[in-house]
Amino acid sequence: MEYQCIRAKSLLSKLIVADSWFHVNRSLNAYRGCEHGCVYCDGMSEGYHVDDFFTCVRIKENAPDVLKRELKKDGFAPQSELSSESLLSFLDEDDAAKLARQGPRKQVIGVCGGVSDGYQPAEKQYEVTRKNLEVLRDFGMPVFVLTKSDLVLRDLDILKEIHKQSFANVTFTITLYEERTKQVFEPKSASTSERFEALKEVRKAGLFGGVMAVPLIPGIGDTYENITGLVKEAKQAGAESIVFGGLTLKPGRQKEYFLNVVKRHFPEQHDLLARIYLNNDKYGRPDYTQKPVSVMIRGHQICREIGLRDRSIRHKMPGEHDSNNKVLGVVLDMIFYQMYALGLPWYKSRRYQELAATIEQGVDELTLLRKEGTLQERLHVGAEMASMVETIMDTGTCQQLEDIEKILGTTESGRGQVFTAWEKVN
Ligand code: SF4
Repeated sequence: MEYQCIRAKSLLSKLIVADSWFHVNRSLNAYRGCEHGCVYCDGMSEGYHVDDFFTCVRIKENAPDVLKRELKKDGFAPQSELSSESLLSFLDEDDAAKLARQGPRKQVIGVCGGVSDGYQPAEKQYEVTRKNLEVLRDFGMPVFVLTKSDLVLRDLDILKEIHKQSFANVTFTITLYEERTKQVFEPKSASTSERFEALKEVRKAGLFGGVMAVPLIPGIGDTYENITGLVKEAKQAGAESIVFGGLTLKPGRQKEYFLNVVKRHFPEQHDLLARIYLNNDKYGRPDYTQKPVSVMIRGHQICREIGLRDRSIRHKMPGEHDSNNKVLGVVLDMIFYQMYALGLPWYKSRRYQELAATIEQGVDELTLLRKEGTLQERLHVGAEMASMVETIMDTGTCQQLEDIEKILGTTESGRGQVFTAWEKVN
Protein backbone atom coordinates (compact mmCIF):
# COMPACT_ATOMS: atom_id res chain seq x y z
CA MET A 1 0.00 0.00 0.00
CA GLU A 2 1.34 3.40 -0.96
CA TYR A 3 0.80 6.38 1.37
CA GLN A 4 1.00 9.94 0.02
CA CYS A 5 0.66 13.08 2.11
CA ILE A 6 -1.37 15.82 0.44
CA ARG A 7 -2.62 19.32 1.34
CA ALA A 8 -6.40 19.66 1.39
CA LYS A 9 -7.93 22.93 0.22
CA SER A 10 -11.28 22.32 1.87
CA LEU A 11 -12.70 19.69 4.15
CA LEU A 12 -16.27 20.01 5.37
CA SER A 13 -19.18 19.07 3.13
CA LYS A 14 -21.91 21.67 2.75
CA LEU A 15 -24.39 22.15 5.55
CA ILE A 16 -27.61 20.18 5.33
CA VAL A 17 -30.67 19.76 7.51
CA ALA A 18 -29.88 16.73 9.66
CA ASP A 19 -30.03 13.70 7.40
CA SER A 20 -32.72 11.23 8.37
CA TRP A 21 -30.25 8.31 8.62
CA PHE A 22 -27.89 9.51 11.36
CA HIS A 23 -28.83 13.15 11.84
CA VAL A 24 -25.48 14.41 10.60
CA ASN A 25 -25.24 18.00 9.29
CA ARG A 26 -21.78 17.93 7.69
CA SER A 27 -19.07 15.37 7.14
CA LEU A 28 -15.37 15.23 6.35
CA ASN A 29 -12.82 12.80 4.95
CA ALA A 30 -9.34 12.77 6.46
CA TYR A 31 -8.17 10.32 3.79
CA ARG A 32 -8.67 9.76 0.11
CA GLY A 33 -8.69 6.07 -0.75
CA CYS A 34 -9.29 3.24 1.69
CA GLU A 35 -7.11 0.32 2.66
CA HIS A 36 -10.01 -1.74 3.97
CA GLY A 37 -10.65 -2.91 0.43
CA CYS A 38 -14.35 -3.83 0.69
CA VAL A 39 -15.42 -5.62 -2.47
CA TYR A 40 -18.64 -3.59 -2.80
CA CYS A 41 -17.02 -0.20 -2.10
CA ASP A 42 -18.59 2.68 -3.97
CA GLY A 43 -15.30 4.61 -3.74
CA MET A 44 -13.79 2.64 -6.61
CA SER A 45 -16.42 3.76 -9.13
CA GLU A 46 -15.24 5.98 -11.98
CA GLY A 47 -17.32 8.96 -10.82
CA TYR A 48 -14.82 9.73 -8.04
CA HIS A 49 -11.87 9.85 -10.46
CA VAL A 50 -9.56 7.86 -8.14
CA ASP A 51 -8.03 5.07 -10.22
CA ASP A 52 -5.87 3.67 -7.42
CA PHE A 53 -8.49 3.77 -4.65
CA PHE A 54 -7.38 0.50 -3.04
CA THR A 55 -3.63 0.78 -3.64
CA CYS A 56 -2.82 4.37 -2.69
CA VAL A 57 -4.10 6.23 0.36
CA ARG A 58 -3.75 10.00 0.34
CA ILE A 59 -3.44 11.56 3.76
CA LYS A 60 -4.79 15.06 4.22
CA GLU A 61 -2.14 16.00 6.74
CA ASN A 62 -3.31 19.60 7.09
CA ALA A 63 -6.94 18.54 7.68
CA PRO A 64 -7.09 19.75 11.33
CA ASP A 65 -5.93 23.26 10.28
CA VAL A 66 -8.42 23.40 7.43
CA LEU A 67 -11.17 22.22 9.78
CA LYS A 68 -10.31 24.95 12.29
CA ARG A 69 -10.30 27.58 9.55
CA GLU A 70 -13.66 26.46 8.13
CA LEU A 71 -15.36 26.35 11.54
CA LYS A 72 -14.10 29.87 12.33
CA LYS A 73 -15.31 31.09 8.96
CA ASP A 74 -18.78 29.80 9.87
CA GLY A 75 -18.74 31.87 13.05
CA PHE A 76 -17.73 29.20 15.58
CA ALA A 77 -15.05 29.83 18.18
CA PRO A 78 -13.02 27.46 20.32
CA GLN A 79 -14.22 27.37 23.94
CA SER A 80 -10.77 28.61 25.04
CA GLU A 81 -11.30 31.88 23.17
CA LEU A 82 -14.43 32.79 25.17
CA SER A 83 -13.43 35.63 27.49
CA SER A 84 -13.45 34.93 31.23
CA GLU A 85 -16.27 37.48 31.59
CA SER A 86 -18.43 35.67 29.08
CA LEU A 87 -17.59 32.35 30.69
CA LEU A 88 -18.79 33.58 34.08
CA SER A 89 -22.11 34.82 32.77
CA PHE A 90 -22.34 31.65 30.66
CA LEU A 91 -22.66 29.61 33.88
CA ASP A 92 -25.79 31.52 34.92
CA GLU A 93 -27.56 31.29 31.59
CA ASP A 94 -30.25 28.88 30.49
CA ASP A 95 -29.63 26.52 27.58
CA ALA A 96 -31.02 28.80 24.88
CA ALA A 97 -28.95 31.76 26.03
CA LYS A 98 -25.83 29.58 26.16
CA LEU A 99 -26.49 28.49 22.63
CA ALA A 100 -26.87 32.07 21.45
CA ARG A 101 -23.67 33.08 23.18
CA GLN A 102 -21.70 30.27 21.63
CA GLY A 103 -22.46 31.58 18.18
CA PRO A 104 -24.25 29.73 15.41
CA ARG A 105 -26.26 26.63 16.14
CA LYS A 106 -23.98 23.63 16.60
CA GLN A 107 -23.74 21.07 13.81
CA VAL A 108 -23.26 17.31 14.05
CA ILE A 109 -20.03 16.51 12.21
CA GLY A 110 -19.53 13.08 10.67
CA VAL A 111 -15.79 12.45 11.06
CA CYS A 112 -15.58 9.38 8.86
CA GLY A 113 -16.88 10.15 5.42
CA GLY A 114 -18.75 7.96 3.00
CA VAL A 115 -15.83 6.93 0.79
CA SER A 116 -12.98 6.38 3.23
CA ASP A 117 -12.72 5.04 6.75
CA GLY A 118 -11.14 7.53 9.16
CA TYR A 119 -9.83 4.58 11.21
CA GLN A 120 -8.19 2.64 8.40
CA PRO A 121 -4.61 1.38 9.07
CA ALA A 122 -2.90 4.67 8.03
CA GLU A 123 -4.59 6.37 10.98
CA LYS A 124 -2.39 4.39 13.40
CA GLN A 125 0.60 6.29 12.12
CA TYR A 126 -0.79 9.64 10.94
CA GLU A 127 -3.50 10.29 13.56
CA VAL A 128 -5.36 12.78 11.36
CA THR A 129 -8.78 11.63 12.61
CA ARG A 130 -7.57 11.97 16.21
CA LYS A 131 -6.39 15.52 15.55
CA ASN A 132 -9.68 16.37 13.84
CA LEU A 133 -11.51 15.12 16.93
CA GLU A 134 -9.35 17.38 19.08
CA VAL A 135 -10.40 20.36 16.99
CA LEU A 136 -14.07 19.40 17.21
CA ARG A 137 -13.75 18.99 20.97
CA ASP A 138 -12.20 22.45 21.25
CA PHE A 139 -15.10 23.94 19.27
CA GLY A 140 -17.73 22.04 21.30
CA MET A 141 -19.13 20.19 18.27
CA PRO A 142 -21.12 16.95 18.55
CA VAL A 143 -19.62 14.16 16.44
CA PHE A 144 -20.73 11.06 14.62
CA VAL A 145 -18.13 8.37 13.89
CA LEU A 146 -18.86 5.58 11.43
CA THR A 147 -16.19 2.92 11.09
CA LYS A 148 -15.32 -0.71 10.46
CA SER A 149 -12.30 -0.55 12.76
CA ASP A 150 -11.75 -1.01 16.48
CA LEU A 151 -8.90 1.52 16.29
CA VAL A 152 -11.52 4.08 17.34
CA LEU A 153 -11.08 2.77 20.91
CA ARG A 154 -7.68 4.50 20.96
CA ASP A 155 -9.54 7.84 20.92
CA LEU A 156 -12.05 7.08 23.68
CA ASP A 157 -10.38 9.72 25.86
CA ILE A 158 -11.23 12.56 23.43
CA LEU A 159 -14.60 11.10 22.52
CA LYS A 160 -15.55 11.04 26.20
CA GLU A 161 -14.61 14.70 26.55
CA ILE A 162 -16.75 15.53 23.50
CA HIS A 163 -19.62 13.51 24.94
CA LYS A 164 -19.44 15.48 28.19
CA GLN A 165 -19.94 18.82 26.46
CA SER A 166 -22.24 17.80 23.57
CA PHE A 167 -22.27 14.19 22.37
CA ALA A 168 -20.27 11.53 20.55
CA ASN A 169 -21.97 8.75 18.65
CA VAL A 170 -19.77 5.84 17.51
CA THR A 171 -21.52 3.55 15.08
CA PHE A 172 -19.95 0.44 13.57
CA THR A 173 -20.72 -0.74 10.07
CA ILE A 174 -21.36 -4.48 10.41
CA THR A 175 -23.02 -6.24 7.50
CA LEU A 176 -22.10 -9.92 7.72
CA TYR A 177 -22.55 -12.02 10.82
CA GLU A 178 -20.61 -15.02 9.62
CA GLU A 179 -16.83 -14.32 9.72
CA ARG A 180 -15.86 -16.33 6.64
CA THR A 181 -18.35 -14.45 4.47
CA LYS A 182 -17.23 -11.14 6.00
CA GLN A 183 -13.66 -12.04 5.07
CA VAL A 184 -14.64 -12.39 1.40
CA PHE A 185 -16.39 -9.02 1.13
CA GLU A 186 -14.57 -6.93 3.74
CA PRO A 187 -11.09 -8.49 3.74
CA LYS A 188 -8.99 -5.95 5.61
CA SER A 189 -11.26 -4.43 8.22
CA ALA A 190 -11.74 -5.66 11.80
CA SER A 191 -13.59 -8.95 12.19
CA THR A 192 -17.30 -8.95 12.98
CA SER A 193 -16.64 -10.02 16.57
CA GLU A 194 -13.95 -7.34 17.03
CA ARG A 195 -16.40 -4.68 15.91
CA PHE A 196 -19.12 -5.91 18.29
CA GLU A 197 -16.56 -6.02 21.12
CA ALA A 198 -15.52 -2.46 20.31
CA LEU A 199 -19.16 -1.39 20.36
CA LYS A 200 -19.47 -2.88 23.85
CA GLU A 201 -16.50 -0.79 24.98
CA VAL A 202 -17.96 2.35 23.47
CA ARG A 203 -21.24 1.80 25.27
CA LYS A 204 -19.46 0.95 28.53
CA ALA A 205 -17.66 4.28 28.22
CA GLY A 206 -21.09 5.93 28.17
CA LEU A 207 -21.05 7.13 24.55
CA PHE A 208 -23.94 6.79 22.13
CA GLY A 209 -23.46 3.98 19.64
CA GLY A 210 -25.04 1.45 17.35
CA VAL A 211 -24.75 -0.56 14.17
CA MET A 212 -25.18 0.30 10.52
CA ALA A 213 -25.95 -2.90 8.61
CA VAL A 214 -25.39 -1.40 5.16
CA PRO A 215 -25.00 -2.71 2.51
CA LEU A 216 -26.83 -5.98 2.93
CA ILE A 217 -25.96 -7.97 -0.19
CA PRO A 218 -29.00 -9.54 -1.88
CA GLY A 219 -29.09 -13.31 -1.39
CA ILE A 220 -26.10 -13.22 1.00
CA GLY A 221 -26.57 -10.47 3.58
CA ASP A 222 -30.33 -10.03 3.46
CA THR A 223 -31.17 -13.53 4.72
CA TYR A 224 -33.13 -14.10 7.95
CA GLU A 225 -30.10 -15.84 9.44
CA ASN A 226 -27.70 -13.00 8.76
CA ILE A 227 -30.03 -10.19 9.84
CA THR A 228 -31.18 -12.08 12.96
CA GLY A 229 -27.55 -12.79 13.92
CA LEU A 230 -26.63 -9.12 13.55
CA VAL A 231 -29.65 -7.85 15.50
CA LYS A 232 -29.11 -10.27 18.40
CA GLU A 233 -25.43 -9.50 18.63
CA ALA A 234 -26.04 -5.74 18.36
CA LYS A 235 -28.54 -5.91 21.19
CA GLN A 236 -26.10 -7.85 23.35
CA ALA A 237 -23.38 -5.31 22.68
CA GLY A 238 -25.69 -2.56 23.96
CA ALA A 239 -26.43 -0.90 20.59
CA GLU A 240 -29.03 1.85 20.74
CA SER A 241 -30.21 0.80 17.30
CA ILE A 242 -29.35 -1.02 14.09
CA VAL A 243 -30.08 0.54 10.73
CA PHE A 244 -30.45 -1.46 7.51
CA GLY A 245 -29.88 -0.65 3.87
CA GLY A 246 -29.36 -2.39 0.56
CA LEU A 247 -26.50 -2.50 -1.93
CA THR A 248 -25.95 -0.08 -4.79
CA LEU A 249 -23.64 -1.17 -7.61
CA LYS A 250 -22.66 1.41 -10.17
CA PRO A 251 -21.97 0.18 -13.70
CA GLY A 252 -18.26 -0.05 -14.50
CA ARG A 253 -15.39 -0.95 -12.14
CA GLN A 254 -17.49 -1.35 -8.99
CA LYS A 255 -20.01 -3.74 -10.51
CA GLU A 256 -17.47 -5.75 -12.49
CA TYR A 257 -15.15 -6.29 -9.54
CA PHE A 258 -18.00 -7.21 -7.21
CA LEU A 259 -19.59 -9.71 -9.60
CA ASN A 260 -16.22 -11.35 -10.26
CA VAL A 261 -15.68 -11.95 -6.55
CA VAL A 262 -19.23 -13.30 -6.19
CA LYS A 263 -18.65 -15.67 -9.09
CA ARG A 264 -15.54 -17.06 -7.39
CA HIS A 265 -16.89 -17.42 -3.86
CA PHE A 266 -20.69 -17.63 -4.19
CA PRO A 267 -21.30 -18.96 -7.72
CA GLU A 268 -24.88 -19.94 -6.83
CA GLN A 269 -25.75 -16.27 -6.13
CA HIS A 270 -24.05 -14.81 -9.20
CA ASP A 271 -26.94 -14.98 -11.66
CA LEU A 272 -29.44 -13.48 -9.25
CA LEU A 273 -27.10 -10.56 -8.50
CA ALA A 274 -26.23 -10.02 -12.16
CA ARG A 275 -29.95 -9.86 -12.98
CA ILE A 276 -30.80 -7.44 -10.15
CA TYR A 277 -28.15 -4.97 -11.34
CA LEU A 278 -28.58 -5.58 -15.06
CA ASN A 279 -30.40 -2.24 -15.34
CA ASN A 280 -27.07 -0.34 -15.12
CA ASP A 281 -28.71 2.45 -13.16
CA LYS A 282 -26.22 5.33 -12.93
CA TYR A 283 -26.66 5.53 -9.14
CA GLY A 284 -26.30 1.76 -8.88
CA ARG A 285 -29.87 1.19 -7.67
CA PRO A 286 -31.14 -2.36 -8.16
CA ASP A 287 -34.06 -3.30 -10.37
CA TYR A 288 -36.63 -3.65 -7.59
CA THR A 289 -38.85 -5.92 -9.65
CA GLN A 290 -36.00 -8.47 -9.65
CA LYS A 291 -35.05 -7.98 -6.02
CA PRO A 292 -36.61 -10.57 -3.74
CA VAL A 293 -36.37 -8.79 -0.40
CA SER A 294 -36.77 -5.33 1.09
CA VAL A 295 -34.07 -5.38 3.77
CA MET A 296 -35.68 -2.59 5.69
CA ILE A 297 -39.01 -4.39 6.01
CA ARG A 298 -37.30 -7.62 6.97
CA GLY A 299 -34.96 -5.83 9.37
CA HIS A 300 -37.85 -3.90 10.91
CA GLN A 301 -39.77 -7.09 11.61
CA ILE A 302 -36.78 -8.93 13.07
CA CYS A 303 -35.96 -5.93 15.25
CA ARG A 304 -39.51 -5.94 16.58
CA GLU A 305 -39.25 -9.59 17.53
CA ILE A 306 -35.90 -9.14 19.24
CA GLY A 307 -36.57 -5.73 20.73
CA LEU A 308 -34.16 -3.27 19.15
CA ARG A 309 -34.80 0.01 17.32
CA ASP A 310 -34.25 -0.05 13.55
CA ARG A 311 -33.87 3.73 13.49
CA SER A 312 -31.04 5.74 14.93
CA ILE A 313 -32.02 7.99 17.81
CA ARG A 314 -31.91 11.73 17.27
CA HIS A 315 -29.93 13.03 20.21
CA LYS A 316 -30.48 16.46 21.64
CA MET A 317 -28.14 19.14 20.34
CA PRO A 318 -26.41 21.45 22.80
CA GLY A 319 -28.90 24.08 23.89
CA GLU A 320 -31.84 22.46 22.15
CA HIS A 321 -35.18 22.19 23.93
CA ASP A 322 -36.51 18.73 24.83
CA SER A 323 -39.85 19.25 23.08
CA ASN A 324 -38.17 20.39 19.84
CA ASN A 325 -35.88 17.36 19.84
CA LYS A 326 -38.75 14.99 20.59
CA VAL A 327 -40.87 16.28 17.67
CA LEU A 328 -37.92 16.41 15.29
CA GLY A 329 -36.97 12.81 16.13
CA VAL A 330 -40.43 11.47 15.27
CA VAL A 331 -40.72 13.57 12.10
CA LEU A 332 -37.32 12.34 10.88
CA ASP A 333 -38.38 8.75 11.62
CA MET A 334 -41.41 9.20 9.38
CA ILE A 335 -39.35 10.72 6.57
CA PHE A 336 -36.83 7.87 6.81
CA TYR A 337 -39.46 5.13 6.75
CA GLN A 338 -41.43 6.71 3.92
CA MET A 339 -38.46 7.37 1.68
CA TYR A 340 -36.23 4.40 2.38
CA ALA A 341 -38.28 1.58 3.89
CA LEU A 342 -41.39 2.14 1.78
CA GLY A 343 -39.47 3.57 -1.17
CA LEU A 344 -41.93 6.43 -1.74
CA PRO A 345 -40.87 9.41 -3.87
CA TRP A 346 -39.43 12.32 -1.83
CA TYR A 347 -42.40 14.62 -2.42
CA LYS A 348 -44.67 12.25 -0.48
CA SER A 349 -42.87 13.32 2.67
CA ARG A 350 -42.33 16.94 1.63
CA ARG A 351 -44.54 18.40 4.37
CA TYR A 352 -42.58 16.49 7.01
CA GLN A 353 -39.30 17.61 5.47
CA GLU A 354 -40.41 21.24 5.60
CA LEU A 355 -41.47 20.85 9.21
CA ALA A 356 -38.13 19.22 10.13
CA ALA A 357 -36.22 22.05 8.44
CA THR A 358 -38.23 24.72 10.29
CA ILE A 359 -37.63 23.11 13.67
CA GLU A 360 -33.99 22.34 13.01
CA GLN A 361 -33.12 25.78 11.77
CA GLY A 362 -34.10 27.16 15.14
CA VAL A 363 -37.61 27.84 16.25
CA ASP A 364 -38.44 28.82 19.85
CA GLU A 365 -39.29 26.19 22.42
CA LEU A 366 -42.35 24.35 21.11
CA THR A 367 -43.98 24.00 24.54
CA LEU A 368 -43.91 27.81 24.89
CA LEU A 369 -45.30 28.36 21.41
CA ARG A 370 -48.09 25.96 22.24
CA LYS A 371 -48.86 27.83 25.46
CA GLU A 372 -49.08 31.16 23.69
CA GLY A 373 -51.16 29.64 20.86
CA THR A 374 -48.71 30.41 18.06
CA LEU A 375 -47.55 26.88 17.20
CA GLN A 376 -49.34 26.66 13.86
CA GLU A 377 -48.26 30.11 12.72
CA ARG A 378 -44.61 29.74 13.79
CA LEU A 379 -44.22 26.31 12.24
CA HIS A 380 -45.99 27.42 9.04
CA VAL A 381 -48.27 24.37 9.10
CA GLY A 382 -51.98 23.62 8.86
CA ALA A 383 -54.23 22.66 11.78
CA GLU A 384 -53.78 18.93 11.16
CA MET A 385 -49.97 19.10 11.33
CA ALA A 386 -50.06 21.35 14.38
CA SER A 387 -52.26 18.82 16.12
CA MET A 388 -49.82 16.05 15.14
CA VAL A 389 -46.98 18.07 16.68
CA GLU A 390 -48.96 18.49 19.91
CA THR A 391 -49.68 14.75 20.05
CA ILE A 392 -45.95 14.01 19.65
CA MET A 393 -45.15 16.46 22.44
CA ASP A 394 -47.66 14.70 24.73
CA THR A 395 -47.04 11.05 23.82
CA GLY A 396 -43.72 10.80 21.98
CA THR A 397 -45.46 9.37 18.91
CA CYS A 398 -48.40 10.06 16.57
CA GLN A 399 -51.01 8.22 14.53
CA GLN A 400 -49.15 8.89 11.27
CA LEU A 401 -46.00 7.11 12.54
CA GLU A 402 -48.04 4.25 13.95
CA ASP A 403 -49.76 3.77 10.56
CA ILE A 404 -46.38 3.53 8.83
CA GLU A 405 -45.07 1.10 11.45
CA LYS A 406 -48.18 -1.04 11.04
CA ILE A 407 -47.46 -1.42 7.34
CA LEU A 408 -43.79 -2.20 8.03
CA GLY A 409 -44.76 -4.75 10.66
CA THR A 410 -47.37 -6.65 8.68
CA THR A 411 -46.21 -6.55 5.06
CA GLU A 412 -44.31 -9.34 3.38
CA SER A 413 -40.76 -8.23 2.71
CA GLY A 414 -41.21 -8.49 -1.06
CA ARG A 415 -40.87 -5.00 -2.54
CA GLY A 416 -44.01 -5.05 -4.70
CA GLN A 417 -46.17 -5.94 -1.73
CA VAL A 418 -44.92 -2.92 0.20
CA PHE A 419 -46.14 -0.50 -2.45
CA THR A 420 -49.51 -2.22 -2.64
CA ALA A 421 -49.96 -2.05 1.12
CA TRP A 422 -49.12 1.65 1.15
CA GLU A 423 -51.48 2.50 -1.70
CA LYS A 424 -54.33 0.75 0.14
CA VAL A 425 -54.14 3.05 3.15
CA ASN A 426 -53.50 6.29 1.24
S1 SF4 B 1 -14.44 0.80 4.75
FE1 SF4 B 1 -15.86 1.97 3.50
S2 SF4 B 1 -14.58 3.32 2.29
FE2 SF4 B 1 -13.26 1.72 3.09
S3 SF4 B 1 -13.20 0.19 1.48
FE3 SF4 B 1 -14.82 -0.39 2.91
S4 SF4 B 1 -16.69 0.49 2.04
FE4 SF4 B 1 -14.93 1.51 1.07
